Parts: sequence; structure tokens; C-alpha cells
Amino acid sequence: MTGPVGTDDVVSQGVIAPMVEAAAIEITPSREAEVGGHRVRRALPRRARRTVGAWCFIDHMGPASTSGAAASTVAGIGPHPHTGLQPVTWLVSGELRHRDSLGSDQVIKPGQLNLMTAGHGVAHAEEGTAYRGELHGVQLWVAQPDETRDGPAAFEHHAELPRVELAGGATATVLVGELDGAGSPARRDTDHAGFDLSLQPGRSVIPVRADFEHAVVVLEGAVHVDGSAVEPGRLGYLSPGRDELVVEARAPARALVVGGVPFPSPIFMWWNFVARTREEAGAAGEAWNERGPRFGEVDSALDRIAAPVPPWG
Ligand code: MN
Repeated sequence: MTGPVGTDDVVSQGVIAPMVEAAAIEITPSREAEVGGHRVRRALPRRARRTVGAWCFIDHMGPASTSGAAASTVAGIGPHPHTGLQPVTWLVSGELRHRDSLGSDQVIKPGQLNLMTAGHGVAHAEEGTAYRGELHGVQLWVAQPDETRDGPAAFEHHAELPRVELAGGATATVLVGELDGAGSPARRDTDHAGFDLSLQPGRSVIPVRADFEHAVVVLEGAVHVDGSAVEPGRLGYLSPGRDELVVEARAPARALVVGGVPFPSPIFMWWNFVARTREEAGAAGEAWNERGPRFGEVDSALDRIAAPVPPWG
């Protein structure tokens, strides 16, 4: 896999210039993978870019048909564990049914947010529903800070989220955090944010926090950020130091913007765990495979997914 084609350098205007120009957008290709029978484009983590704020995982799934011959692919993802992160599910089209070891059973539809907090440990399954049609969405993980990552698990569903009309005709839905004074009700353990942009042809200006780094993932259509094209299968990264993002679309487009204060702790990600060390991640895998009390049980007809043998032996 190739690294970023952009540059991470901060270009100084020189000692007499009062301002520092923010670095150019950095474009990283996503990796194609398959999860639960669905083709996904994994935008994060990549070798060159592990985190954007506390966001540490972005899978863009679909669009894929769940009707006709492809109906068997609606099977979904069987019970599996998580630690130290918050899985976030956001759909453009289709439906998924979330079931977890806390007893939650929640169908999610486009425009709604599912946010689970794993803390010390939780397990969940993502199942198909009777819905047949196009399935298209994104799953993201937010790394939990040291203060909460060993804490209790939780699950929340938000049927309504704030929407903000932006200059240039874009509408932003605030998944997490705050945009232009509109705050999402979703839980947030670190200083981060996530927005879905519904763009019309033209130039839209999104006010952002200058202390945040950001990433743009295009879900539909194509956009230009800082004059560089970003399309599905690419992640556009923007370093801190700017107070607005200028996004241009030539046709209607959908894009996800995530951002946050750079995550303070080095994380160790393995399988479905966000840890700090490999020992910690390995212990979580063993606890899951031993079926102890740490992760609980999920009421799902799907097969439980066993943790693989860690590559470090
Ligand atoms: Mn999961």
C-alpha cells in the first residue's frame, strides 16, 4: 500500500509573516476489505495515518444491494467483542439491527446514530433486517481516553440529530460534538466531532475548530477540499491550524467530516480492541475465547466470531 501523496509539512510564510499557512490536504487511498459479506473501503487506520482526533477506524460499506441474489449477504456480523472504543454506525441507506450484551436491540435507519461504548468490554452483533434494497453506510470507532476506557459499557441510539444549514447550500448533520453552535446529544469522552455533509453544487464553508485535525471521507459523488479532489475510496486529511473547511461540489454529494484534538495516547489496535499494549489486547482476545464474564452474551442467531491467534505469538 502506498503512503500519503500529500505533504504533512507546515509551510511557513517566513519570520516576518504573522500567520502560518496550514499544510495542504493529504490524500490516502483506502484499503478494500470484506466484512460480513459486504465490501468495505477502510479509510482508517492506514499505515501512514492511525488516528484523526480520537477517530481510529473508518469503514465505508457499500453501496450494495441486499435484494435478489445478494440477499444472503444481509446475514451481517455475528457476536464479537470490543474494548476501549466506541463503535459508531451511520447509514446513508438501508437498515441494520444492533444487539449487544447489555440487552440492547435496536434497528437503525438512515439519519439515526448508534453509539456503543465498550469500556472494559462489551459484545455485539450487527444483523440484517427484513429490509431489501441498497445498504450503504459507515462504521467508525472512537478511541476512549484513559479516564473511561476501562469503565462500564453503554449503548445509545439517537433518532434525531441537529442539522445546520451552512453558507453555500450545504446541510450538516451533527453526529457527535458541535458545529456552529449546534451540539449532538451523543456521548463524547474526548474533544472530537463528526458531521455528515449533504452538499449542493457550489462552494460550502464549514466552520471548524483550529485546534482540531480533520478527515474527509466522501460517501457519494466527489468534492474538492483545498482544491484537491476527494472521492469515495480516499481519505483527505487536514492538519490543525484552520478555522474553516472549504468544500466544493460540482454535483450533489455526501461527505463525512471527522475531527478532534490529536489523541494524546499512543494506541495499540488489534482485531476488535483498542488498547495501549499488545499484552492488553491479547488478554482481551483470550477472555473472549474463554467465554468468561468480561464480555457477556449476545442474543443473536448468528455465529459467534472467535478471536484469532495474535500475530505476535
Ligand atoms: Mn463491532
